[in-house]
Amino acid sequence: MAEIVESKNFIHSFIEEDIGPGGQYEGATVHTRFPPEPNGYLHIGHCKALIIDFGTAEKFGGICNLRMDDTNPTKEDVEFVEAIKEDIHWLGFDWGDRFYYGSDYFEKDYEYAVELIKKGLAYVCELTPEEAKEYRGDLNTPAKSPWRDRPIEESLDLFARMRAGEFEDNKYTLRAKIDLASGNFNMRDPVIYRIRHMHHHRQGDKWCIYPMYDFAHPIQDALEGITHSLCSLEFENHRPLYNWVVENVSVPHRPRQIEFARLGIDHTVLSKRKLRALVENEYVSGWDDPRMPTLCGLRRRGYTPAAIRNFCDRVGVAKSPNTIEYGFLEHCLREDLNEVAQRVMAVLQPIKLTITNYPEGQTEKVVVENNPNRPEDGTREVTFSRNLWIEADDFLAEPIPKYKRLFPNGPECRLKGAYLIQCTGCVTDENGNVVEVLATYDPESRGGDPADGRKVKGATIHWVDANNCCDAEVRQYSNLFDDPDPDAAGKDFLSCLNPNSLEVLTGCKVEKSLENVKAPASYQFMRLGYFCPDSKDSAPEHLVFNRSVSLKDSFKPNK
Ligand code: ATP
Ligand code: MG
Repeated sequence: MAEIVESKNFIHSFIEEDIGPGGQYEGATVHTRFPPEPNGYLHIGHCKALIIDFGTAEKFGGICNLRMDDTNPTKEDVEFVEAIKEDIHWLGFDWGDRFYYGSDYFEKDYEYAVELIKKGLAYVCELTPEEAKEYRGDLNTPAKSPWRDRPIEESLDLFARMRAGEFEDNKYTLRAKIDLASGNFNMRDPVIYRIRHMHHHRQGDKWCIYPMYDFAHPIQDALEGITHSLCSLEFENHRPLYNWVVENVSVPHRPRQIEFARLGIDHTVLSKRKLRALVENEYVSGWDDPRMPTLCGLRRRGYTPAAIRNFCDRVGVAKSPNTIEYGFLEHCLREDLNEVAQRVMAVLQPIKLTITNYPEGQTEKVVVENNPNRPEDGTREVTFSRNLWIEADDFLAEPIPKYKRLFPNGPECRLKGAYLIQCTGCVTDENGNVVEVLATYDPESRGGDPADGRKVKGATIHWVDANNCCDAEVRQYSNLFDDPDPDAAGKDFLSCLNPNSLEVLTGCKVEKSLENVKAPASYQFMRLGYFCPDSKDSAPEHLVFNRSVSLKDSFKPNK
């Protein structure tokens, strides 16, 4: 397995200070949480957050909660909740019995809102959304609200009636009374509750007022005893509000929010909204399409948890946004599979090869290594006969300069693990297309090496015994987006799609040992790349393989 790099980052340093002597959580158990919104599947960006949340807790011997952030009453779905759990377990993280829903705290949120009103720190405002925008002010002009000094009793009464369902959507809001002139607009008396007559997937119709994320989230963290609330950078400007909430309501505990930069990867989009659009408009076959940057897509593509975790660790934790090359993710996968994947032979664009001096009807077994990196994985036998399949491009009727493979009277080539052969000619059809390559073999070269030690000038090529193999479909993928930055703000990402991101090859030939393969499993198809059986579509009567990654590494460190 590829080495997992032990990383120390600025979050770890903050935490060390906090739990160290004199720190605000001196001696405490580090307690983090991962709070996904269950409105889509997790993508590789979430992995980074998962590794930061769960990984940081692990590093400090602490714990991490899993909390579905279903504060917002739209679009939550049980399908997503279950998928999120499965993906997190797959990556190797566990939340124990600490699984929560943000909506479970609605009653508490309400109580704390009432507490703020009673303290004169929140008021019911009657500005319409349009008016609120207009009254927001700008850097030189403070915001205003004519309702700011509404008597406490009146706000209490209106807030109770908001909850009771007396008013239509947007008629009133509850606003925190903080600072209308603040340079940070999040502090200009932010709305903390709004009226939404909407069904909630878990609360049903119990509520028609819903807390805003900025109010609900710190309360959830505090009630769960979170010490460090780690979130992405877009919440940096919200931190003063986060702190204001935990300071001004009587929660049992004060968590600390620390922000980190989101992960961006080129040639893809990392936003559930955009990924959903790809699924709903059928640009891909589903959330688990092997081209998707979702965890289920990557898994189906043949990515391993080790490769993904190693990638995230090596990308590191930074304070400034960074876009990583997709090639680096592939590089990490290749590194892992190179260690663990069994080598097999498969021919993707087959052409017949007939060994004319090999006896008809004869068959023998040759021995090939399973994985040169792991001698302990042993060897296996593959059958060899007069009729083989080889890659069409391992033969040329007219050689080009430096071509070292098969052409009539060309160099001696090695059939991997079997014999040395020399091409003698080919058979063409009526249109002049080559339909069969002819060669003779050296019976003294069993195993692939000449008995007399002569130098073999041609290439080593892979092959499959035509009398003992399986047919397969192979799906080869390339970037889902041509444009390196389809995720850029304002860009029409759908117009950046690569129309050729999926290439389906049928009639491929794979060695018999793959007859009954099932996902998860990874193989190196020699000379071609890493492939895995498709978890949905592959069956013994119709094998389907996904190319996880090619062998050629385009990634240049320090480019
Ligand atoms: P999206 O835009 O994909 O919907 P989100 O932030 O709304 O992302 P959430 O489900 O709320 O998705 O995310 C859960 C956690 O994952 C949050 O803490 C969020 O900061 C983090 N996260 C989401 N995307 C990334 C990313 N690209 N890199 C790092 N962390 C991320
Ligand atoms: Mg979100």
